[in-house]
Parts: sequence; structure tokens; C-alpha cells
Amino acid sequence: MAERLPKNRKNDYSREAIKERLEGLSGLNGQPVKYLESSDVDPSLAKGNIENMIGFTQVPAGIIGPLRVNGDNAQGDHFVPLSTTEGALVSSYNRGARAITLSGGANVVLYRDRIQRAPLFVLENVFKAAEFTDWFARNFETMKDIAGSTTNHGKLESYHSFIQGRIVYLRLNYLTGDAMGMNMVTKATQEICKFIETSFPVERCVIESNMAVDKKPSAINTILGRGKSVTAEILLKEKIISRFFHTTAMEIDLAYREQVTGGQLAGVLGSNGHVANGLAAIFLACGQDLANLSESCVGYIYTEVLEKDLYVSLNMPSLIIGTVGGGVSLPTQKECLEILGCYGAGKAKKFAEIITATLLAGEISLAASLVAGDFVSAHEKYGRNRPSTNNRMTSGNTPFRPPAG
Ligand code: NAP
Repeated sequence: MAERLPKNRKNDYSREAIKERLEGLSGLNGQPVKYLESSDVDPSLAKGNIENMIGFTQVPAGIIGPLRVNGDNAQGDHFVPLSTTEGALVSSYNRGARAITLSGGANVVLYRDRIQRAPLFVLENVFKAAEFTDWFARNFETMKDIAGSTTNHGKLESYHSFIQGRIVYLRLNYLTGDAMGMNMVTKATQEICKFIETSFPVERCVIESNMAVDKKPSAINTILGRGKSVTAEILLKEKIISRFFHTTAMEIDLAYREQVTGGQLAGVLGSNGHVANGLAAIFLACGQDLANLSESCVGYIYTEVLEKDLYVSLNMPSLIIGTVGGGVSLPTQKECLEILGCYGAGKAKKFAEIITATLLAGEISLAASLVAGDFVSAHEKYGRNRPSTNNRMTSGNTPFRPPAG
């Protein structure tokens, strides 16, 4: 391999540029590199999403459904694409989806929508810090206008301030249309910072204080919200629980209480079984920023036995998703969003509602499998890919040949 990665000055997103980089990698550790570049997708479409491109990672995609959703924005039956390498995940979510659909569908409400940038400002002392927060409050309409001048869809909506000695932290809340919005709000916040630096005697300003909180799980995102805050509910009838999950409402309810307590003892943020599983699979299939899984996967489950039926609700306070911008226009990602009817303008809230209903399906199915004792057997049946019995490096019927030497 050369000392520096090859760059193609004419077009670094051409197939030639990819080949050039791959040539240096092929055989580097005694293995050929041949699948990365074998996608039909035009690499130039990935401009703006990746640098030093060497091809496409190919992950299996599956589908679940129909999943009935009774939301403000998503209504009716949906088929949800999931990309994963975890066997048993798709069939488990599918089982939950069928149970939800036969129970009349998940009711879903999106109750809050805002994304943050949180700059910090260093003042002379605590008195100046307090003066600054008052000044910012009085000038908030101007801040909104400055933010609005940088974007057509972004809107500064509100903020929270925190004072630590002479440092003021401002957590700015934005509406960003159908985009997840981080590029948009970063640009808007930069202009606000520039205005503040020329209008108030701040000693120093940093555009992000880590209070946004981007790409980290945190209590503040959970309490004040980040991205879309969505809640869903389902009433599972006794007959459905018995038919699909081979157990009872009381057993699932008990299992949840035990699990929630276990999570509390372990200091888990949120109370859910595995929302990260479904979320990661949808994010991957639908072109979302995977790092936002870290804040999105905090979810809360609540269960209640109503006679012999089971009421389950799920609250997802910080879902970071978009149907415009980021990676959503890449070909397979766009196709998956289109399967959901969620690609493009006017679809982000619908997408968030379908995601939350999907996660509810996965929660019910996992809890039931823990109770009914098929947790291990399902993974044994669907979720094992033993290297000794499966040759992973095959394509169709063509056996993989190890490199010469
Ligand atoms: P983006 O692709 O940078 O911007 C979205 C664009 O879509 C904007 O130019 C917006 O125009 C336009 N747009 C058209 N129709 C829209 C609609 N209906 N709703 C909203 N926007 C619409 O996407 P982004 O969501 O702002 O940023 C997402 C990307 O930021 C992801 O790739 C993520 O990985 C990355 N990211 C960035 C940072 C950062 O610090 N910059 C941090 C984390 C993640 P207008 O602006 O004129 O409205």
C-alpha cells in the first residue's frame, strides 16, 4: 500500500478512483477485496455522504408486515424494511407486527418535534453571565430572524439556558421540516454566535458545548426531547396473546416489571428490551445517520393488565430521523423509504410514527419470547451462522476460492 491513499483529482467518486484505492488493499492481509466495489449503484451518488470511497457495504435487508398504524400522520398497513445481520430479529418483529395488526393497529402520537445546537458563552463573571441570559431573552426574536435567514425550512423555536459560574450554556431548539437537521441548525447557530460576539461583551463562544446532546445517550434528551418525541400504544387481546405468543397478559406484564427492575439495578437509561435492534435495522435500511442511534434508542415501556388483555405503551422521546437530506437519497435507502411511503417532503412525522409502532412490535415479541421460553430456540433456529458449517464468502453457487499462496 502506498504511504498516502490514492486520490483521483479529476473525479474521486469514479469507479476508477475506487479501483485504485482497492488495488492497494487487495491482498493486504492475504485476502482479496472484491465485493465492496460490486454494487450497481453509481458511486458519484455518494458525494456528500462519504470520502475516500472504496465501495458499498452490503447488508441483508428483510421486510416485516403488514403493520397497522393509527397515527396522525401514518395510517393503515405498512411493510417495514429492516437491514441487519442478526438472525431472528426480522421474524421476531414480524410476529409482533402481525399481533398488533390483528389487534386493530398501534395508536401513535408524535407529541414534540425539535432538534438542538447548544453553544456556550464565556463571560467576565457570574453577574455578566446573568446579564447575558436576560439580554438573550429580550433579543430572542432577533435570534429567530438570524436563524431563519440561513434556511428555508429551519426555524428557531425556543431555548433553555443553564449558567455555570461565568459560562452560559444555551440549548437552542429548532424545527427542521423533514430533515433531521443537524447541518441546518449548525449553520443557523453559527450566524447567531457571530451576531452575539459583535453585540454583547462575551469573552469567548463555542458553537457546541456538548449539551445538544448529539450522538450520546443523555437524561436531558430524554426529559426535554430531541428530534421527534413519539408514543404508541396497543391493547392485545387474550386470544391474540395466546395464539401468537403462547403465553398470557399477566406473564408478559410480570416479565416487564422484572426486566425494568433489572435495568434500574444496572443503571440503564430508559426501560425497554431491545428498541435499538429495530431502530438500527430501520436506520440502516432507510439512510439515517447511524450514530444518532445512541440518543434515539432510549425508550420507555409501560404495561398494564386489563382483565385478561394486555395494554402496552412505548415512549420514544428522542428519535433523530429525516426523510430529506443526509443519506436518504442514496438508491437503496430511497427505495426502502418509498416502500414505507416515507421518502421526501412532508413525510418525516409519518416515518417517526411507523418507526415507533415497529419498535412496539419488537418489544412485545421479545418480552413474550422470554416468558414462553422460545428466546433461545428462536435464535438457535434463525440466528446462528456457524463459520464451521457455513461458508460465508460465497456468492450464489460459486464457491469461494482462497487466494493463491
Ligand atoms: P442536509 O442534507 O444537510 O440539509 C437538508 C437540506 O434539504 C437543506 O438544504 C434544506 O433546505 C433542504 N430541504 C428541502 N426540502 C426540505 C424539507 N421539506 N424539510 C427540510 N429540509 C428541506 O441535512 P440536515 O438534516 O441538515 O443534516 C443531516 C446531515 O447532517 C446528516 O448527514 C448527518 O450525518 C449530518 N450531521 C451534521 C452535523 C453537523 O454538526 N453539521 C452533526 C451531526 C450530523 P433549507 O436549509 O434551505 O431549508
